Amino acid sequence: MRYLVISDLHANIEALDTCLQDAARRGYDRTVVLGDVVGYGPDPNAVVERVIGLQPAAIVRGNHDKIAFGIDQAEGFNVAARAAAQWTLDALSPSVREWLVALPQGPTMVDGLFEICHGSPTDEDEYVFDEIDARRALGVAQRPLCLFGHTHVALVFQLQGRTMGLLTPPEEGLPLTEDAKYLVNPGSVGQPRDADPRAAYAIFDAEANRISLYRVDYPIERTQEKMAAAGLPEPLIRRLAAGR
Ligand code: ZN
Repeated sequence: MRYLVISDLHANIEALDTCLQDAARRGYDRTVVLGDVVGYGPDPNAVVERVIGLQPAAIVRGNHDKIAFGIDQAEGFNVAARAAAQWTLDALSPSVREWLVALPQGPTMVDGLFEICHGSPTDEDEYVFDEIDARRALGVAQRPLCLFGHTHVALVFQLQGRTMGLLTPPEEGLPLTEDAKYLVNPGSVGQPRDADPRAAYAIFDAEANRISLYRVDYPIERTQEKMAAAGLPEPLIRRLAAGR
């Protein structure tokens, strides 16, 4: 079984479709979604419809998806994120809003093989940036492999014995060793923040026990034009091209 792993899509249909085409070329069987399907981007309804069409094996909600409950969910957001949240809330079709409200909170086990969450297995809203955060997260993870999102930074933490390492997966993918635990962020489909503006996704091959992280170019300008036309905040438009 090959799992397509997508996270932080953020209503960016150009980025999502590019990832889906690239992943189809490589081949996958099922999809898991790590949350933040909407927020920031100009196409929340289209992206939700696309995700529904993928019939995900598992999905968890992200903090931006909770906007569907009401704008008070944007309390901790900065000015631009809050403005985008209000825009998103106004743009959601009733059925899409209903779908978002019904999204489950992580962590969620997938086929008994691995675990997915938005922020961390302890708290869906927590950011896992460094080894200290990763150690805490892996301390409660139920499986040797835990996939998370939220930071929009693609990376792989490996805990082997007491040694925590940050790995760079090779082109052909990273073989997971039996005696280690892994915390993997596939990166963000719709708003990368790791200085690489290309859309990010991952494929986990359960038989080979191997994870591969991919980056693909997508038509960023098209997404930016739509955001400008929608009146979404300028800093959010600019950051797409910077990947920050
Ligand atoms: Zn996000």
